[in-house]
Amino acid sequence: MLTFDNRFLRDLPGDPNPRNHSRQVHGAFWSRVAPAPVAAPALIAHSPEVAALLGLSDAEIRSPAMVEALAGNRLLPGMETYATAYAGHQFGNWAGQLGDGRAILLGEAVTQRGPNAGERFELQLKGAGPTPYSRRADGRAVLRSSIREFLCSEAMHHLGVPTTRALSLVLTGDQVERDMFYDGNAELEPGAIVCRVAPSFLRFGHFELFASRGESALLRQLLDYTITHHFPHIAAAHAGEGERIVAWYTDVCERTARLTAQWMRVGFVHGVMNTDNMSILGLTIDYGPYGWVDNFDPGWTPNTTDAQGKRYAFGRQPGIAQWNLARLGDALATLGDPSPEVLVDALGAFERTYSREVNRIFRDKFGLRDDAGHAEDASDNEAVIDAAFTLLVQHEIDMTIFFRALATAVTVDDLRDAFYSEAEWHAARNAWQAWFDRYATVVARQHATPATRTDRATRMNAVNPKYVLRNYLAQQLIDAAHAGDYAPISELLDVMRRPYDEQPGRERFAEKRPDWARTKAGCSMLSCSS
Ligand code: AMP
Ligand code: MG
Repeated sequence: MLTFDNRFLRDLPGDPNPRNHSRQVHGAFWSRVAPAPVAAPALIAHSPEVAALLGLSDAEIRSPAMVEALAGNRLLPGMETYATAYAGHQFGNWAGQLGDGRAILLGEAVTQRGPNAGERFELQLKGAGPTPYSRRADGRAVLRSSIREFLCSEAMHHLGVPTTRALSLVLTGDQVERDMFYDGNAELEPGAIVCRVAPSFLRFGHFELFASRGESALLRQLLDYTITHHFPHIAAAHAGEGERIVAWYTDVCERTARLTAQWMRVGFVHGVMNTDNMSILGLTIDYGPYGWVDNFDPGWTPNTTDAQGKRYAFGRQPGIAQWNLARLGDALATLGDPSPEVLVDALGAFERTYSREVNRIFRDKFGLRDDAGHAEDASDNEAVIDAAFTLLVQHEIDMTIFFRALATAVTVDDLRDAFYSEAEWHAARNAWQAWFDRYATVVARQHATPATRTDRATRMNAVNPKYVLRNYLAQQLIDAAHAGDYAPISELLDVMRRPYDEQPGRERFAEKRPDWARTKAGCSMLSCSS
């Protein structure tokens, strides 16, 4: 049983117009909207961990009534459905009102039992039909993108990266028309709905919307609501409104910095870092044309819509996160207090937190000693890491395999498996040999005894995953699902539950991208069509 307490609806004003047609919604945070029914809901995967978080048993999640609810076909007691209003900057340009165009909230579930009793989670159906914010689109989602969102939400959680979660993946039984590469070749695809779960789905864009319209009272109200309920430590520590807003903004900057550093750690590329896809809780949100870097390439983006500009490429993510935070700062500056100067100053928290985190993360990934207070270690660490980055980008080298191999590498040849081409390995071997010798000398000095060497390998393996949701693995599941076989989804989810463990017998899920996947749609190229 789920128990709902729909605070967002209760405490914040809504749209008085009950009709569901695309429009600009003014003076409101949400619009009531009913999910559009689907033909034949079937639960094809779920996350037992998220069910447990909500206090749901396995039998409850599989019950016909719950599956109907997770497809938007019926409401369970306490559920109230609505879509929220937000705006955003997309690809660097102001886009005006956007909003939940295909995400419908079911309400806020308050966990009643188990270790998470008392915790509150918003439940949101993605793909449940049109809302007042759908503009000209259909409010639906296709199976391929729903599989990708379901799996990656959970894989990220198990990797230790902050993220929205996914409770369920339901096939709707309806077909959805999509033109995957926007080239006039529209096709019918199976439709699906993911139930996403997070303490809040509020985005930077929610705050930008009211600022852009000069609706200061509503912006203040949203800030007050957000700080009171999601940042209670700030509400408690600061009396003045301006002061609270600066403290809140600083906190969002720090969370976003930690999140971005974690993406860099695991090789995740979000793909569409528009401000409407940035969570104020610092969660990874909106899994669209995301991808995982196979070879370590800071210039790589999976998003074909961004193939020219590469705005959201792997290595640009920290800079873009900072740019997005600046847009959030602009929105807050419309209030007059805090002043724009104070907000620009507060944005400095991003860079400070990001450099601290990313330095620590890469030091740990390379298995180098904490250099706080050791000048010699600090300069060695920096030199050895910088030299590795220079070499890593010169050839196709698998990021995940490289870092995993480094934990136990005795000679440079132990890194060979990370190379995509034999010829490149031979061409690069001498340069890598020189790097490895230097690295090994630093490591030997920092880790003098066998005990600290073993400890080092264990700690490296705890930050360098063996298993990530490689793009081609997800695509293989999608192909199987289109042929009616859904079992591989739960099998891969099971692998992703323990990404840092060796998992003997499952090595095939840790293999580098096969050649056929290099340029295949869905493996290295994804569009926003979903
Ligand atoms: P995204 O790029 O997926 O983050 O989406 C940007 C905006 O477009 C958001 O407001 C979405 O709700 C909306 N949107 C995307 N796909 C659809 C769809 N199929 N139907 C309605 N709205 C959509
Ligand atoms: Mg979005």
